[in-house]
Amino acid sequence: MIQENLKTVQEKMKAACARCARDPQEVMLIAVSKTRPQEDLQEAYQAGIRDFGENKVQELVDKIPRMPEDVRWHMIGHLQRNKVKYIVGRVALIHSVDSLHLAQEISKESGKQHVETDILVQVNVAGEESKFGTSLEETLSLVQQIAILPHIHVQGLMTVAPYTETEEENRNYFRFLRQLSVDIAHKNIDNVNMNVLSMGMTGDYPTAIEEGATCVRVGTGIFGQRNYTTGQAH
Ligand SMILES: *Cc1c(COP(=O)(O)O)cnc(C)c1O
Repeated sequence: MIQENLKTVQEKMKAACARCARDPQEVMLIAVSKTRPQEDLQEAYQAGIRDFGENKVQELVDKIPRMPEDVRWHMIGHLQRNKVKYIVGRVALIHSVDSLHLAQEISKESGKQHVETDILVQVNVAGEESKFGTSLEETLSLVQQIAILPHIHVQGLMTVAPYTETEEENRNYFRFLRQLSVDIAHKNIDNVNMNVLSMGMTGDYPTAIEEGATCVRVGTGIFGQRNYTTGQAH
């Protein structure tokens, strides 16, 4: 099942790339494995997936030692400062940095552990009250403040777009984020890259790719519906 789903997702990604003349190599697929048991991750791994996304620190640290060492882990959920120490040095990319305080903690902890940590700044493009992230207006200033911290490196921007029924609805939000990343890139800030644009989920990843995503985060489309009431923690 997972293998067939993956094939479908990969074909849709390719088709989206073809529609906008992008090289499919430019777009990375992150399999969002939150709430999923070990066997599901294993199956995705067998099918070639190496990038996994998790949104809870506890679940992430439980899963890391049980999977092969060449897995790249992505922290995509809200991160509390007191939990930073558990994931620094163990994840490839933290997608969800939305405050200077959090960035300072990541910087401090990375220094302590003698590692360098790549991060994305999470932007609340639609200004939804229920969502984490900086506002479009505050993003540049946050990026500038993070840029001067040691051991932490901004690699781009991330957003969680609103939940919608149709994938067209979020196109403008993806455009805003892409434009913002281009604007920030033009400022040539030391220690800041805008190479990564993490946007698009099961409901809208083809649209996100058409609008410039370099990284899509797909859970349901690969693993099926999540069940929050039984089984693993969410
Ligand atoms: C759960 C989650 C996803 C994946 O959502 P699906 O709709 O299942 O593809 C992507 N990004 C974040 C931040 C998530 O929490």
